[in-house]
Amino acid sequence: RVSIVDLLRRPAEIIGADDKASHAAIPLPAELYRPQRENSHGIELGERKALGALTSAIAAEQKASPSVTPSTTEQANAAVAAARRGFKAWNATPATKRAAILDKAADLLEQRRAHFLALLQSEGGKTLDDALSEVREAIDFCRYYAALGQKLFGAGETMPGPTGESNVLELHGRGAFVAISPWNFPLAIFLGQVTAALMAGNAVIAKPAEQTPRIAAEAVALLRQAGVPPSALHLIQGDGAVGAALVAHTAIAGVVFTGSTEVARSINRTLAAKDGPIVPLIAETGGINAMIVDATALPEQVADDVVTSAFRSAGQRCSALRLLFVQDDVADRMIEMIAGAARELKIGDPSEPSTHIGPVIDADAKQRLDAHIVRMKQEARVHLAGEAPSGNFVAPHIFELSAAGQLKEEVFGPILHVVRYRADKLGEVLGAIEATGFGLTLGIHSRIDDTIEHVIDRLQVGNIYVNRNMIGAVVGVQPFGGSGLSGTGPKAGGPHYLARFASEQTITINT
Ligand code: GLU
Repeated sequence: RVSIVDLLRRPAEIIGADDKASHAAIPLPAELYRPQRENSHGIELGERKALGALTSAIAAEQKASPSVTPSTTEQANAAVAAARRGFKAWNATPATKRAAILDKAADLLEQRRAHFLALLQSEGGKTLDDALSEVREAIDFCRYYAALGQKLFGAGETMPGPTGESNVLELHGRGAFVAISPWNFPLAIFLGQVTAALMAGNAVIAKPAEQTPRIAAEAVALLRQAGVPPSALHLIQGDGAVGAALVAHTAIAGVVFTGSTEVARSINRTLAAKDGPIVPLIAETGGINAMIVDATALPEQVADDVVTSAFRSAGQRCSALRLLFVQDDVADRMIEMIAGAARELKIGDPSEPSTHIGPVIDADAKQRLDAHIVRMKQEARVHLAGEAPSGNFVAPHIFELSAAGQLKEEVFGPILHVVRYRADKLGEVLGAIEATGFGLTLGIHSRIDDTIEHVIDRLQVGNIYVNRNMIGAVVGVQPFGGSGLSGTGPKAGGPHYLARFASEQTITINT
């Protein structure tokens, strides 16, 4: 077998057979993408070590390069004006051409995979597995939206009409679209938002999270290299204040945002209050995501899936498991197995290939999580409270609550809350999940079809995973996004996403 390091050094090669299926240029991706578990990259330990050495060397080079300067409000305003000017030509570019550019971007990402892996590790604190998954997801977004967009934004759809009249429905870009993305998927979500907006014909002003500016800058450079004209894509760096200035600009035509519910609400308020056109918001926010485990579930599988769902990526995914409901008859054994599996996780330097849990994003995050842990140690029963190395590390924790309502907000880290329930009280569990107001992901572990169906029917949750882990939605396979406090939809990586970035035009001709 060819070494993975050689593959990464060679341009246009692909890691692993599984990846090949998902990255091939394909006409109907939704039908051809294959579901697969995220953590099976098929990389052996020796290869991991070599890959770790390669990415560390690249990361050292990257660290030595100058830091990114935040943009000013004036620059933000100028970017909106420039995007407005760039919009017409980009919107008039045929969809096939726009799609070819996104495909080219995917090719370039494949060629520069090692470079982006290193950036994700050094700037985003990602482990090797997480970084591999993320680069792969970014590539998938480019290819998926390119394939989908060619169909949607090509020739208009002919509508029925009386004799002597022709009716056509066309989709176009809306104008200058603002894309505000989070630090937890600084490449995949950044590119997912930007490529969707571009594919729909918009000019984009992208504002990445202030914690991960370099990845965004490199992703923009890559899109430009692929052929996106500079006038159609503008990058504004900085914190929430510069994002707020973009959102408040009267000339923007849309906003796509991934982050907290609180910020989504404030964007919504700004959009509602200002003059100018009525501007849509596409928001993907957080969740107090639950998993229900009944007495028929397979304990080993539950332990594996809970550990992956709650602790992988240091719990810094909006899809991550926060609240585990376990049927009381099996709770002791399940909790013991989960805690045992979690104890095996290695916390530390993300560039070390055997690391399972890297750092949390920054000192503020660490402080918030530590404060939650202190509170939980007083209010809950402690099943696991590991030691973390010094730095921005948080070890996995497991706390048992007497009621789900004790967890009042999304805790964005490797902290799992467990609640026991009696078999005849499943209704109360479902009520407690509904009472959170969120609806992003849900896990069910059960061998009883009626229970599974009942839960699915009752709860309004965006992504439901039965008898598996509940993270790592694959583009074109598990369209991702929630409802209620978790977001507006449509789902990223799904067939309805692009249309929400577009404006529709019906043309009726009396012939
Ligand atoms: N799509 C990711 C997943 O399924 C989560 C995205 C996020 O954290 O915003 O795990």
